Amino acid sequence: MSDCNGKLVVFDLDDTLYKERDFVASAYNTIASLLAEKYNLNVVEMIEIMTNAPINPFDSLAEYLKQYSDNSGVAIAEDIPWMIDAYRFHKPTLMLDEEFRATLTQLVADGFRLGVITDGRTVSQMNKFYALGLDAYFDCSLVLISEAIGADKSQPDAFRRMMKQNPDISQFYYVGDNPAKDFLWPNRLGWTTVQLNDDGRNVHPQSIELPTDDYRPQFSINNLSDLLGILIH
Ligand SMILES: [Mg+2]
Repeated sequence: MSDCNGKLVVFDLDDTLYKERDFVASAYNTIASLLAEKYNLNVVEMIEIMTNAPINPFDSLAEYLKQYSDNSGVAIAEDIPWMIDAYRFHKPTLMLDEEFRATLTQLVADGFRLGVITDGRTVSQMNKFYALGLDAYFDCSLVLISEAIGADKSQPDAFRRMMKQNPDISQFYYVGDNPAKDFLWPNRLGWTTVQLNDDGRNVHPQSIELPTDDYRPQFSINNLSDLLGILIH
């Protein structure tokens, strides 16, 4: 790898590099489209049923499909486990924000090394990674996913592994959104931690009671481009 200023910037994925609700919308669209095509059902209606479900989107959709089946006599093979698999493993349609694209381009041009530490399933997270075109900015060997690591961010394993894989780095940064789990271990391991503030579209709240002060990020920013100011110090 090229000169990296001795600095490695590691990003969280969900609700940091893209909005998780966009993945959910993409999954609903895929599920509804597959069913609509096979059974001549209404896509928009099924998306609305999942989106407005009182408790669980797939319980509500299964109920709708059962009613349709009872009324029409058409047997529907797709059940809730099928919906869950489609949700997890579909190839999502996601767009990298233009400001993010510009910031990542700048970081690469400035010679920073970039990585990802994310909690989730390997297939799901890599599908998101490629859908966003992140392979243009990140080396895949520095994308650490909890399922592959065998430990989520409540444990130090992924952060320690990132350090071990990059012995030439003197300063590590972690950029995330969720103070319940994103900053504790990087703080304890001497990293610089940065919270990207919720723009109102995140899944997890940021104003929460934290058990101890080391759960807090050292910096918080409203725009990803604000990161550049933190990195040059
Ligand atoms: Mg997150």
